[in-house]
Amino acid sequence: MPHTAVVFDLFNTLVPGGDGARDRVLEEMAAVVGVDPAAFVRAHHRSWRDRLVRRDPAATIRIIAGQLGARPTDAEVARALALRCAIGARLLADVTPVTLAALDALRAAGFRLALASNTTAETVGLWPAGPLAARFDAVALSPEVGAAKPDPRIYLAAAARLGVRPDQCWFVGDGADGELAGAAAVGMAVIRTTEFQDTDPAWPGAPITALTELVARLG
Ligand SMILES: [Mg+2]
Repeated sequence: MPHTAVVFDLFNTLVPGGDGARDRVLEEMAAVVGVDPAAFVRAHHRSWRDRLVRRDPAATIRIIAGQLGARPTDAEVARALALRCAIGARLLADVTPVTLAALDALRAAGFRLALASNTTAETVGLWPAGPLAARFDAVALSPEVGAAKPDPRIYLAAAARLGVRPDQCWFVGDGADGELAGAAAVGMAVIRTTEFQDTDPAWPGAPITALTELVARLG
């Protein structure tokens, strides 16, 4: 059976991970809800796996602020959440014309494209307005699937939403969260990218360094 679809990771695969920018926004959020910025950033990082499948980002802010001894008002939580959504939208829009053209070329070559992303709940609402959305035939985001990579369910959701079997899919990602092994475990053919970050250097095989190489390799 030929490979007819490509399932992409999002952060550090299609757009930068934006870790530094995210941390600066977390510090601003901490000031809004009245807690120590460094402690808020650390607690937020520790809650990562939990946030991938937690649907309500306002609850996340409230819980972490509470752990640090604050009781923010609804208005403060809303202001902190607005900061979080603004950086989320900026990161989704931080995609180069070269990447968009590569996705268009893959579709022109007949591949159907899906996204399988470990992300937090605000991305579910932000994705449709971003520049990548129109390029994708299906999307599987961890908060709405209720499972995060390397859990098989998120890969299977992406394939099912494309109407293909996992063994008809390439999976392209930087390798965070053990996603490459997770993709291979459900039968996808894995391609590692180092365009933004060399996340999983032990993964065998030659990585791509830009999505344009993917067009050449698959097309
Ligand atoms: Mg990634």
